[in-house]
Amino acid sequence: MLKLVVCIKQVPMVSELPWNSKTGTLRREMAEGMINPACKHALESALVLKQEHNCHITVITMGPPMAEEVLYEAIAMGADCGILLTDPRMAGADTLITSRTLAATIETRCPDFDLILCGCHTSDSETGQVGPQLAENMNIAGAAYIEHMELNGRTLRMKRVVDEFLETLEMDLPGLVTINTRTYIPRYVPLDGLQNAFEKQDIKLIDADELGIDPKTIGMKASPTRILDVYSPVEEKKNVVMKGAVKKMVDRLFDEYGDRISAAIGKDLKTHDHDEEQT
Ligand SMILES: Cc1cc2nc3c(=O)[nH]c(=O)nc-3n(C[C@H](O)[C@H](O)[C@H](O)COP(=O)(O)OP(=O)(O)OC[C@H]3O[C@@H](n4cnc5c(N)ncnc54)[C@H](O)[C@@H]3O)c2cc1C
Repeated sequence: MLKLVVCIKQVPMVSELPWNSKTGTLRREMAEGMINPACKHALESALVLKQEHNCHITVITMGPPMAEEVLYEAIAMGADCGILLTDPRMAGADTLITSRTLAATIETRCPDFDLILCGCHTSDSETGQVGPQLAENMNIAGAAYIEHMELNGRTLRMKRVVDEFLETLEMDLPGLVTINTRTYIPRYVPLDGLQNAFEKQDIKLIDADELGIDPKTIGMKASPTRILDVYSPVEEKKNVVMKGAVKKMVDRLFDEYGDRISAAIGKDLKTHDHDEEQT
């Protein structure tokens, strides 16, 4: 039996969530959660492999206690069991620490895995970094943005489109893939599937102590990347009429808008002698 592990993330159903500058994290409790769209495509690709081969699927998510919901939905779609990695000390982890924590979980809870499947990116921070970092952390082969897979013994043949080139790749298991969102259109969650999922109750909750991981190596504290602020820039238009001598107007233009013009043209006007412009 092939052991598949699918990493899924719960993301807010809304695109805009307030930033909690005190905790340095999004205020996720303010919105309903859902399975990250690309993770659903990854799960669907695992379910297709399960239809074609004898497979067991474990779904893993790291998140707040409310993230348990996405595991029930994944089991309702056809996964066999779930692992919820939840611990306040894990909050605010950047992609490096997220992938390390997932690696520690897979190494201890699914040591005989054959294939790890991730989504190509998430809808909230969209870095696309966790899959490749997880493969790196586990020292296994990885292939990203995959659109089609065929398993032949322990060799996975994959297809993807990059820069309009169709690429065919092969990888010997164990390995990791990230799945693109153009194929493996997720199946609907059958109602009886949800009921079975709740009856089955095959979800393990694991915190840092149970994982046996040093609390100094998880969460925001261990993360080299910190998000200082998240905001949606407000586009504003303003008419400014300048009158007077040309040189005065140019000087005022550079004094008042030099930074914004520099940012727009990618050249620091302050260090650039604008007198040259007039020659
Ligand atoms: C606005 C914003 C910007 C951010 N920018 C950065 C940044 O530049 N660098 C950085 O290091 N961190 C950043 N972070 C933190 C980052 O969001 C978290 O580390 C997050 O848990 C993983 O990154 P991601 O969502 O981009 O994952 P991606 O790499 O886009 O996710 C790809 C796949 O990895 C798996 N995966 C990701 N997270 C989890 C999880 N929690 N549980 C299970 N599987 C998972 C899923 O299969 C998912 O489809 C940012 C956060 C926010 C809110």
